[in-house]
Amino acid sequence: MLVGESLREEKADIRIEDGRIAEVAPGLAPASGEEVLDVRDTWVLPGFVQAHVHTCQTLFRNTADDMELLDWLGERIWPFEAWLDEAALEASSRLGLYELLAGGTTTILDMATVHHTDAVFQAAEDSGIRYVGGKCLMDFDDTGRCPDGLLEEARAALDATERLIARWHGAADGRIAYAIAPRFAVSSTDELLLGVAELAARMGLGVHTHASENVKECEVVRRRTGHENVLFLGKMGLLGPSSVLAHCIHLNDEEIDLLASTGSHVAHCPSSNLKLASGVARVPELLDRGINIALGADGAPCNNRLDAFKEMRLASLIQKPLHGPKTLPARKMLSMATLHGARALGLDAEVGTIDVGKRADLVVIDGASPWMSTGDPLPAIVFACGPESVRDVLVEGRVVKRDFEVLTLPRVRVLRDAQNAFNRLAHHFPRIGVQS
Ligand SMILES: [Zn+2]
Repeated sequence: MLVGESLREEKADIRIEDGRIAEVAPGLAPASGEEVLDVRDTWVLPGFVQAHVHTCQTLFRNTADDMELLDWLGERIWPFEAWLDEAALEASSRLGLYELLAGGTTTILDMATVHHTDAVFQAAEDSGIRYVGGKCLMDFDDTGRCPDGLLEEARAALDATERLIARWHGAADGRIAYAIAPRFAVSSTDELLLGVAELAARMGLGVHTHASENVKECEVVRRRTGHENVLFLGKMGLLGPSSVLAHCIHLNDEEIDLLASTGSHVAHCPSSNLKLASGVARVPELLDRGINIALGADGAPCNNRLDAFKEMRLASLIQKPLHGPKTLPARKMLSMATLHGARALGLDAEVGTIDVGKRADLVVIDGASPWMSTGDPLPAIVFACGPESVRDVLVEGRVVKRDFEVLTLPRVRVLRDAQNAFNRLAHHFPRIGVQS
């Protein structure tokens, strides 16, 4: 197994008590009646933490390809999100959660859509994943392309957020937490963003938003506010050690200074950044400045997978031609996909490494595969393995995937419900067609 912050290799047993890692040592004998998961010939890792996903969008995978951000949002994603009813949203989230758990992701920071957010939390609770997320907040349209159904008054959006916090923050014995989620500066008034900052401070909650993903997005914000995007978010009180900003590609030096000095976290989404032609984030430079960088797959329509292995591999590979082959080695990438993610969510005392006292969120990698049969396990996991290598997954000691099968979300039902929901909505987008 790969133990602790340094990911040292150790041949050992893990004892789990009350969902936490109680002992890590070789040759532990099971107590009478204690359940044993045989992990011989495997590698055990901390569960992956993805710090930016949208499970609400999973239904729209393979329907919004080869577009840039503002067209992708205006022509596809916003109308799609506006059409989602409660049942379709739940089916979408369950499909995403199935893929995430199957691929070894045990914790997510999720941005839901504007409506029916209870359905997303319910799906997360049922799935057994460790979930941090919240309803998407939008009260302004600078693009002329946002459906009315997604826009709310700032006060109504904040009141709805407070109701969701009361119901879901701390639910499932603390496995579920709330993060306040304005979509991005483009779709937010000052009133909304100042209200988010006030609510986050009052409730002691994190803020999750998109920032500086696309050049045109930055131009829209600059034109309206007179500020660079991240500086504007700082002015609105949205930066700090409980804030996670997805993307952060187009930053000037002052913005990088501000991210570093405020202790804000960046969720790096390399697949999404490339596929939407957004750009390549300056990850090595941000890391050198001491900024914590986590990974995320973003939504299925801009990736088209929710696969932590793909993000680790790609995040490393895209920097090597720019900064040399030693940049972002396997060990660093695995840390970004685990401990850095936990740090971004304020959960690093609880998850992110295999250490006594932490919650037992673990991934068991099958050792009997072509990718694990020779050489060093670290580069094998980061550069060679994929979700097909994940044999078992535990969240808080509960086995949610065993012998390659997700136990909490039945595959056949998840796929059938998603297909039915997609077909039910398909009349909205005849060009994409109905699957049978
Ligand atoms: Zn996103």
